[in-house]
Amino acid sequence: MKNFLVTLTVLTLYLFCSSFAQSTDDTWNRLAGSAFIDNHSFDLLERLCDEAGGRMMGTSKNKKAMEIMKQELERLSIAAHYETFNVPGWQRGEDKVKMTYPAEKDFNAIALGYADSVPEFEANAVFAGYGFSEEYNEKDVKGKIVLVSSERPKGKEPLLRYEAIDIAAEKGAKAILFINEHPGTLNLAGTGNFQGTPTLIPAFSLNYEEGMWLKRLLTNGKDVKLDLSVKSRCKEVETANLVYSIPGKVKEKIVIGAHFDSWDISQGAIDNGIGTAILFDVARLIKTFAESNYFSIDFVWFNGEEFGLWGSKMYAEMHRNDRIVAMVNMDMTGEPTGFNVMGFDQFIPFFNDLKFRLNGFDLSSGVVNYPYTNSDHIPFMFKGIPTFSLQAHLDEDMVKYYHSSGDTFDKVNKKYLSEASAVVSIMVKELANLKMLEKGKKTPEQMADLFRKFHLDERLKRQKEWIYGN
Ligand SMILES: [Zn+2]
Repeated sequence: MKNFLVTLTVLTLYLFCSSFAQSTDDTWNRLAGSAFIDNHSFDLLERLCDEAGGRMMGTSKNKKAMEIMKQELERLSIAAHYETFNVPGWQRGEDKVKMTYPAEKDFNAIALGYADSVPEFEANAVFAGYGFSEEYNEKDVKGKIVLVSSERPKGKEPLLRYEAIDIAAEKGAKAILFINEHPGTLNLAGTGNFQGTPTLIPAFSLNYEEGMWLKRLLTNGKDVKLDLSVKSRCKEVETANLVYSIPGKVKEKIVIGAHFDSWDISQGAIDNGIGTAILFDVARLIKTFAESNYFSIDFVWFNGEEFGLWGSKMYAEMHRNDRIVAMVNMDMTGEPTGFNVMGFDQFIPFFNDLKFRLNGFDLSSGVVNYPYTNSDHIPFMFKGIPTFSLQAHLDEDMVKYYHSSGDTFDKVNKKYLSEASAVVSIMVKELANLKMLEKGKKTPEQMADLFRKFHLDERLKRQKEWIYGN
């Protein structure tokens, strides 16, 4: 009898444990297996890059790419819908920066986003170091074109581009040129500000080699004359986020997003084609193998991140009455190496457990707690919503061409996409059933403390994005 009871207990325990292990592992195995075997995110990204091109918000290329994306989702029976909105946009025109003295040279310069049109003018150039206010002492820049270095100044925080533009304008300069700090004749695209207002003066990125040429002439005391004109212009644009929703048992939902737009001067393969492509496969995996969850899920391809997080701001605004319990952001997500709880440290044990159980992946960065700004999770963080991202590795040539013309499809690593799809789909499935998220939201006071704790308050204030008062 005793033996029988022991046997029965052992048998019950075995059945209990194995059924528990089965229910988890089976879904995980399916998600991970299919992420490697049936994954077409690489082919999708190739189409986006090669058939549409750079996906700058408000352009026909961006629209075409999003239509390709929507069709490819439809082929997988995934019905995504557009959520359109109007925001301040910008159209690139034929802009010109030309040296007329002492040598003649049409520079390969590009205007920064929100640089508004100005008629052609000629002016002398002045070198103003890193662009700090004190560097203008004893320099007369009124009516001139200021040249500044984008390198990191020794021993102090560099100026943000917006700050350097405002300082130069305040000193009376007529335009500002930023020298790209990386050699290789590459321009660095970027927005002139996050508010969508025309920059006070035209702002350009100059490549390193041409910038150094100008800087040498100026520091040698030579006169330099430039001819400059801006045909680019600020204008309102209609654009859209692409959203795919899977209802759960409750209306509370988790949002997993990646920005779809890129700069126009490249294919935006790494920034953020890879995040876009991973999200494409994660949507397929969750729909196919893990469709029933406690929480609802919105998969969102945000537009207009590069110009100032417009898509995520608008999504957060348009869905202000939805109860969002978590947000996962993928921006330039490469080969997974761990997880980031972004200041929401009560979720560290959950991610530690996840990392521990994903034993076949090299998640050696572990679980980090390191929030950052300037990507699509920020509008959700401002609402106190727990926000997470993947720690991930990118190769040197993936990072090197950030925001430059070299960010092209040839840099994409297919294996990284599959690995990320496997890890992220499992993470999303687990989050979609993690009931502690119902109580994860922070108050505005707690969020202000969180940003202060990680010294992000200064940066947000400098970008005019701080919403918490003093
Ligand atoms: Zn990005």
